Amino acid sequence: MAMDKVRKSEEEWRSQLTAEQFQVARQQGTERAFSGKYADHHEAGTYTCVCCGLPLFASGDKFESGSGWPSFVQPVDDASVATHEDRKYGMLRTEVLCARCDAHLGHVFPDGPRPTGLRYCMNSASLNFEAAAE
Ligand SMILES: [Zn+2]
Repeated sequence: MAMDKVRKSEEEWRSQLTAEQFQVARQQGTERAFSGKYADHHEAGTYTCVCCGLPLFASGDKFESGSGWPSFVQPVDDASVATHEDRKYGMLRTEVLCARCDAHLGHVFPDGPRPTGLRYCMNSASLNFEAAAE
């Protein structure tokens, strides 16, 4: 099922986001390790796209990777993220984007824990958090 895309101009994103959010989510930036607000965050709830609000990751899929970035074994739904080959900096990595608005979220690496063996290494700046209802 194709998702309806959210498309905005660079100016619209810039006015909606903080400077750091814009740099990471719209310009493929990376926040410094251990600097993001969700690297060491343990509440129950859902991490959503900072740009369009799409639910992306569940707190139950978050794990301690030690990397300094929030890390997950899987997205809430395979359809909520898109992946793209990234050859910047002489490395072959797999970029992870929001499937709805193409926000840059981070990268996925094949060195995660079970059950998936994947490590979705995300930027806090690309995420918002919605606490689970009591
Ligand atoms: Zn989005």
